[in-house]
Amino acid sequence: MPYTAELIAVGTELLLGNIANTDAQMLSKGLSALGIHVYYHTVVGDNPERLRAAVEIARRRADILITTGGLGPTCDDLTKTVLAQCFGKELVYNSEAEERCRAFFQSIGREMTDNNHQQFYLPEGATVFQNDWGTAPGCGFEAEGVRVLMLPGPPRECTAMFQHRAVPYLQGLSDGVIVSRTLKLFGIGESGMESLLREKMNAMHNPTLAPYAKEGECELRITAKAESESAARALIAPVEEELRALFGDKIYGADLSSLEEAVLALLKEKGLTMGSAESCTGGLIAKRITDLPGSSAVFRGGVVSYATQVKHTVLGVPEELLEQYGAVSEPVARAMAEGARRVLGCDLAVSTTGVAGPDSDERGNPVGLVYVALATSEGTHVRKLHAGTGRERVRTAAAHNAFDLVRRYCAGLAL
Ligand code: ATP
Ligand code: MG
Repeated sequence: MPYTAELIAVGTELLLGNIANTDAQMLSKGLSALGIHVYYHTVVGDNPERLRAAVEIARRRADILITTGGLGPTCDDLTKTVLAQCFGKELVYNSEAEERCRAFFQSIGREMTDNNHQQFYLPEGATVFQNDWGTAPGCGFEAEGVRVLMLPGPPRECTAMFQHRAVPYLQGLSDGVIVSRTLKLFGIGESGMESLLREKMNAMHNPTLAPYAKEGECELRITAKAESESAARALIAPVEEELRALFGDKIYGADLSSLEEAVLALLKEKGLTMGSAESCTGGLIAKRITDLPGSSAVFRGGVVSYATQVKHTVLGVPEELLEQYGAVSEPVARAMAEGARRVLGCDLAVSTTGVAGPDSDERGNPVGLVYVALATSEGTHVRKLHAGTGRERVRTAAAHNAFDLVRRYCAGLAL
């Protein structure tokens, strides 16, 4: 049975809406990668009674309890005191934590103040998570069948301590290793994917299979537990093979962060360069590819041709086309991509032109209508989309489709 976890974020600022609970997001991602199911997120203010009440509820329904925040030196930092009380632990002094804290203050050229002492007291018997990224140490201990971990609030410290201290600690909990592999899909909806897999998923225990939907893309995570990494991978391989047979070229990669990452690798492999002519995406395609290190080897540049006139003067889209069909049309998308390919001197160029909304355009084209084109030495292909509503969603879909066209072309798949 996989472990279950509950996160308790401690901080009045979170409840007031002054800051977002990004620690919980980071931890949830990290825990699910370990195959630990996160069932609840709780947020509680800097208040001992309410924190105690939250802990009493959480300990009954989770194997692992992780708190964030409230470990520091100020009087509102009460997490350790309350958690130690809840689990009947004394707080004991940890000299290494003090030495590290002194060294930290020295390194930033400041004196350590007296109130810092509170931080060096940790529950008896706890594994101390020394803090190399700030001052307050965290810790992990076991009591009455529950694993309790406490991590600092500042996101930078919380992330580093989770990765370098808590993950090894949690991995030590189980006798095996947990390995995940994430297949990335484009061109299928989450519900379509789920309906194909529902029965299979319910019947699976090791490995498990979990689908996720992400802004127009889908992921399938296969997680296996075994004695060794190679044994876990051997459990994953046949499931991956089966999924690949089922979804075919809708799967664009495994353990990749994005479509553009797949595109970058393919362009490099083929020795091809690309460029973009963007209307409704306003530079999103160029941004997404240049977010990746190494993109300069393949990405030549992009033209944000938002105004009709720029489509004509910069990209050479004939005025007759613009007048006859309007800016949001198949012939214009085609001419934009071909123009960009010529002007930017690249092997492949993509273009986008569409109605991002909120209103339909002057020709009555509906919100979400987008044409995405790919021009290559072999010709130009245009894809027509109905991307739904909401500017962000329309733009994201347009950019995804542009990358999908490039990927399919480079991989020799049908466009
Ligand atoms: P410190 O030693 O800095 O006091 P701490 O562990 O006591 O750390 P808090 O005092 O609760 O943590 O929070 C410090 C800062 O960390 C907050 O002001 C906030 O900016 C950030 N923070 C706290 N909790 C979270 C959270 N759950 N998500 C994102 N940021 C957080
Ligand atoms: Mg604090």
